[in-house]
Amino acid sequence: MGDIENVIIIGSGPAGLSAALYMAREDFKPVVVSGSGAGGQLLLTTTVENYPGFPDGVLGSEIVDLMHKQAEKFGARFVSGDVTDIDLSSRPFKIKVGDQQYESKTVIIATGASARWLGIESEKRFIGRGVSSCATCDGTFAKGKDVIVVGGGDTAMEDSNFLTRFANSVTIVHRRDQFRASKIMQNKVLSNPKIKVLYNTVVEEILGDAKVGGVKLRNVATNELTEMDVQFVFVAVGYTPNTSFLKGKLGLDEQGYIVAEDEVRTKIEGCFVAGDVSDRRYRQAVTAAAAGVKAALEVREYFQRTE
Ligand code: NAP
Repeated sequence: MGDIENVIIIGSGPAGLSAALYMAREDFKPVVVSGSGAGGQLLLTTTVENYPGFPDGVLGSEIVDLMHKQAEKFGARFVSGDVTDIDLSSRPFKIKVGDQQYESKTVIIATGASARWLGIESEKRFIGRGVSSCATCDGTFAKGKDVIVVGGGDTAMEDSNFLTRFANSVTIVHRRDQFRASKIMQNKVLSNPKIKVLYNTVVEEILGDAKVGGVKLRNVATNELTEMDVQFVFVAVGYTPNTSFLKGKLGLDEQGYIVAEDEVRTKIEGCFVAGDVSDRRYRQAVTAAAAGVKAALEVREYFQRTE
């Protein structure tokens, strides 16, 4: 066991890295635990065109890389590995990463959320090559293309409407005969003449060579197989917040998101959160980065108040 740290930041996506930058610049000497998904969801996309400051777009991996360097330059320390256990019941908090135990006066949890995927083999091959889980990020690349959106929840509805701005055609592929989405969102989709819906349908396989060229679909009611020419597949089958290590240790809602007040404060003094791990609504790199900064400012305020 080593010294007691000032702040341990769990997660190294835009939320964690922005928190690390602010904490490091103020000489809090933060320790960042970058998990096995280091870098977060930005690494699952290619060019990012909506991160302010990059008029020509920037690779998701480059944003993460630059943020990492910037935080490190001011003294943030990085530890790789996943948090295997955490004790938030008393301060200093105890955080286990593999065999190593850390103690810290404060913690910022920024472990993000993972987009759920269909889980078919061909999907993996085409992620970033026409398969995307983020319409906001990749919608403009679907300009003039025929696309499908898989899912029947609010995200699928929202994504489909959004994609009609760019795509030549949008078809929603949903596994049941009715949507899960709220009525208002469904109505928007159903009244949009540019959107077609295939109910009772699942994607069996994504086809193509270097990029997506089509999909093989199965009607689950009849078992009939059909092929459809599409150049983009948007998967919108929900998100899972990365909070399994927090079960029973911190307030989580029924879907596993951390319950936060004012976006970043938890019920436990000294324990803050940032980004998609508690945000099911905005889920943008920019909003996650902003939440990381807010959490860092809360840590500063906590030290001013308590030390
Ligand atoms: P969700 O509500 O969990 O919906 C996921 C959808 O994907 C469901 O229709 C589900 O089908 C389908 N699905 C799940 N696994 C699948 C699989 N393996 N293959 C095919 N389909 C699969 O997720 P979400 O739409 O991302 O929404 C998450 C939360 O965010 C919700 O609370 C939602 O209301 C909220 N949200 C709100 C807004 C807004 O208000 N503007 C926008 C987006 C999201 P089944 O229906 O058959 O289960």
